[in-house]
Amino acid sequence: MPTVTRRAVAAVAAVLALAASAAAQSPPACPPPPAGYDGALWAKAWALHHDAIVIDTHVDTTTRILDRGFDVGPRANDGHFDLVRAREGGLDAVFHSIYVDARFAGDERALFATAPQDINADWPRPGDPGAANGSARRALMMIDGIVQQARRHPTRMTMCATADELVAAVQSGRHAALMGIEGGHAIEGDLGLLRLFHQLGVRYMTLTHTNHNEYADSCAPAEPRWGGLNRLGVKVVTEMNRLGMVVDVSHVSDATFFAALAATKAPAICSHSSLRALCPHPRNVTDDMLRAIAANGGAVMINFNCGFLDVDYAKNRSARQATRRIQEKAARDKFADGSAELRDALAALDARFPPVEPPPLATLVAHVLRALAVAGPDHVGLGSDFDGVPCVPRGMDDAAHLPRLTYELLAAGQSETTVRKVLGGNLLRVLRAVETHAASRRGEEPQRNGADDFDRLPR
Ligand SMILES: [Zn+2]
Repeated sequence: MPTVTRRAVAAVAAVLALAASAAAQSPPACPPPPAGYDGALWAKAWALHHDAIVIDTHVDTTTRILDRGFDVGPRANDGHFDLVRAREGGLDAVFHSIYVDARFAGDERALFATAPQDINADWPRPGDPGAANGSARRALMMIDGIVQQARRHPTRMTMCATADELVAAVQSGRHAALMGIEGGHAIEGDLGLLRLFHQLGVRYMTLTHTNHNEYADSCAPAEPRWGGLNRLGVKVVTEMNRLGMVVDVSHVSDATFFAALAATKAPAICSHSSLRALCPHPRNVTDDMLRAIAANGGAVMINFNCGFLDVDYAKNRSARQATRRIQEKAARDKFADGSAELRDALAALDARFPPVEPPPLATLVAHVLRALAVAGPDHVGLGSDFDGVPCVPRGMDDAAHLPRLTYELLAAGQSETTVRKVLGGNLLRVLRAVETHAASRRGEEPQRNGADDFDRLPR
């Protein structure tokens, strides 16, 4: 292309980009205050919220993208996240979850017993070469899913891998899409795969999901496997530090949590956990854990899941589910599949067991406020778990409702500075600290898998 033409094209592109970013940067007009809200404070909260960089460290829309062909572009009438509602809610940056369900790990015969129909038809069958573990492949498919969305919506969304790229994307008026692996079995115990995922742009990894893996224990199974991390687990944390990938200790057992904090030389996060003092669930963090994350320089990102916020909701829902399951089984045993009788019986069960009422937004706010009180203003953030949880509090129905949280925090007496930190400032600081730490270790030899990988750590 001749130079003049190329210059002309570049100039036109620059003008278009400026126009697009100017249009995208003007915040949506402040809507009328929600019922019961003070008008002046709502206007202040709206302006502050849309001026701040708002980051959510855990959104599960990738699963919808991959398994159901979901497009983040238009407004959806279900779920919690799309680019339209993100913009309305001032949600600037999201760590999209590269979620690898536990059923992809280990013995794939279990997978094929329960696989949804929308898994690729060419997935290896039991006995095929490569069928032993589908975790890394699933993670790669998830990455492709979100990257393809960014390709489809280049003026509204862009993939980012650094704090600077995140900030630049927000300044250009585009959604900053980052990636975090959920479920450390995604690397199949292989430090080389960990490095490749980093190269593809993954910037945090949750060491486990609901399953123990090759190197770390989860909080979900009753019996521990390693008693926290084994030697490979320490190598994984060390390699993440060296690469510049944030260590995420949501989902892990308490022993893994403290072993990972002892092993990491850079700040860690809980990407989506709430507080055990307010809702005693093993997925939540204790006050001691909050203080440990604060001492480490990291942050706990509060999860919006009703079941992790409100103990009564959690109890009601599980009691209801248990009763309903028994009655549904009885109906299925009694009536033939597809029969009108079964359909009527299931409809009657739906009517008898309506969904448990979600807790109010105040429940979520209480977790944020307590985390601020225990860990301090520099160590709290947001990890909604949008599109990954069956219930969010009333008033926090989806990403478009996020400004209400800013209002509630201001109404509770939190300073504008603290609110900005919670909304995104703290996560940005952690990300930069992890990047700086990795830069200081440039030239260091990578970690290697070895014969001692499955040794337990000395007590
Ligand atoms: Zn999770």
